[in-house]
Amino acid sequence: MKAVIMAGGHGTRIRSVASDIPKPMIPVLGKPVLQYQLECLKENGITDVILVTGYLAESIREYFGDGSDFGMSISYFNEDKPMGTAGALHYLSGELEEDFLLLMGDLMLSVDFTRFMAFHKNTGADVTLFVHPNSHPYDSDIIVTDTVGRTEEYIEDRCGPDAAASGPVPQEDRRSRVMEVISKKADRSGLWYHNCVNAGIYAMKAQTAASVPEPVEKIDLDKDIIRPLIADGKVCAYQSTEYVKDMGTPERYEEVTEAVRSGLVRQRNLSRPQQCIFLDRDGTVNAERGFIRRAEDLELLPGAAEAIRRINASRYLAVIVTNQPVVARGECSFLELDRIHKKMETLLGAEGAYIDALLYCPHHQDRGFEGEVPELKFRCSCRKPAAGLIDKAADLLHIDKTSSWMVGDMTQDIRCGHNAGLKTVLVKTGMGGADGKYDDVPELTASCLSEAVDMILKR
Ligand SMILES: [Zn+2]
Repeated sequence: MKAVIMAGGHGTRIRSVASDIPKPMIPVLGKPVLQYQLECLKENGITDVILVTGYLAESIREYFGDGSDFGMSISYFNEDKPMGTAGALHYLSGELEEDFLLLMGDLMLSVDFTRFMAFHKNTGADVTLFVHPNSHPYDSDIIVTDTVGRTEEYIEDRCGPDAAASGPVPQEDRRSRVMEVISKKADRSGLWYHNCVNAGIYAMKAQTAASVPEPVEKIDLDKDIIRPLIADGKVCAYQSTEYVKDMGTPERYEEVTEAVRSGLVRQRNLSRPQQCIFLDRDGTVNAERGFIRRAEDLELLPGAAEAIRRINASRYLAVIVTNQPVVARGECSFLELDRIHKKMETLLGAEGAYIDALLYCPHHQDRGFEGEVPELKFRCSCRKPAAGLIDKAADLLHIDKTSSWMVGDMTQDIRCGHNAGLKTVLVKTGMGGADGKYDDVPELTASCLSEAVDMILKR
């Protein structure tokens, strides 16, 4: 299998870090970011690479040559004038005979590409987008998917054209602008979204590359090629918790450097066992308000976003597991529950925090409620304190349960954690353990999520 890497980027926004080198050559701890990509491809058995170059192409060619020094076979396609993120594919289509991988050359990443390509082949999609939650969804392109991962919509930069036209806006200003819009707009729900961002990694059928027209002007991969395919239902999204980050700003460049130094980039590769902090939802992340039936009633607890942001920067994944019997009772539809979670992800995103996954149990065993949904009324294996949700997440995300934690405000969370083989923290927010249903003793007790995260990270 081949990989095509778009390595023509200028790197204008990060001039303060490096000037006069192409973006993919920006050094991180003494090594160009592109070299990290090539090493990762090689680990996945992909050694046949085409580099699409443009800006200062010679410096890339001089460094990597024919790839033999790196145990790879590298060929080049040079754009005399920039053709956009897809234009070169028109000329390369003769060399691409089977499904291939397409990467943007300025991303720091460590990805299990074998797993990604297996997903792509399995769906039969023309294009599979690699998507993930990130710490700045408010200025990223958001991907909307249906429940089976088919991409339904592609929403550009949530700050809108006015933000783009006024040039780079400091991150803090952008955050507050997003918060302002969220809190003031009459139709607020339209602005809530799942934190699901296009990362800049694609699996593609050879025919899709062949369909790219000869570039008369720049052709944008996302806008001109992928969006029309979304309308035809031919694009899927692959959700991953792996480390993929662009270095578009000096701030992000520092984060990436630290993540490489600490080993986080490689640790998050899904070929390795992951460590996770499982979080209860109501009373742990958001304020306890009885059963939340409408998105309007969801409010984050003070400090929760900051605590989750620290999990995101640590070696742990952040995964929410929550019982939502309101669905079985007919008090909250799946659609409204989705709206609640969109609001939560939007509020977290505005503060630079995200959850890697959220799993819920919609079931309840006791029949006889007016308006209940009969098909959800049964004794399931996912309602906490059963371990079903955690077991499912562990399978999905290669989580090593023995080095993972459960944090919650109810004794049933603690019992659930123990049932799944996790260590546990009881937080004093929400119910603060007052449900008193189980006598499990938590390994740790904390006043709130922030303190719980402190305690776990210190161990
Ligand atoms: Zn269930």
